[in-house]
Amino acid sequence: MITCQSCGHDNALGTTFCRGCGTRLVVDFQSIEQSVQSTRVADLDHAVLRSGRSALMLCTFALVCALIARYVVVPPMPPTVSPPTPLIEVFLPQEAAPAK
Ligand SMILES: [Zn+2]
Repeated sequence: MITCQSCGHDNALGTTFCRGCGTRLVVDFQSIEQSVQSTRVADLDHAVLRSGRSALMLCTFALVCALIARYVVVPPMPPTVSPPTPLIEVFLPQEAAPAK
């Protein structure tokens, strides 16, 4: 990007006149170097964003595969059978107490 000297508008590299105010852009070596550097930083940011996005998509895919494997491939667990509850002997003395 080439920044306009009069209005500060960012113009694409190779532009002769400013898109904001129409002033002829004066391009020197330093501004070209800055533009290339900022483009490299922006490309690096896009690469980091893309890799993070693909990692997130990979994790989502793994989660969906795990859920499918859980409910389709693995057979369902057998129902739990609880042992019969023994008679509670706590109430028996209370019933026996009025009989005395
Ligand atoms: Zn301008």
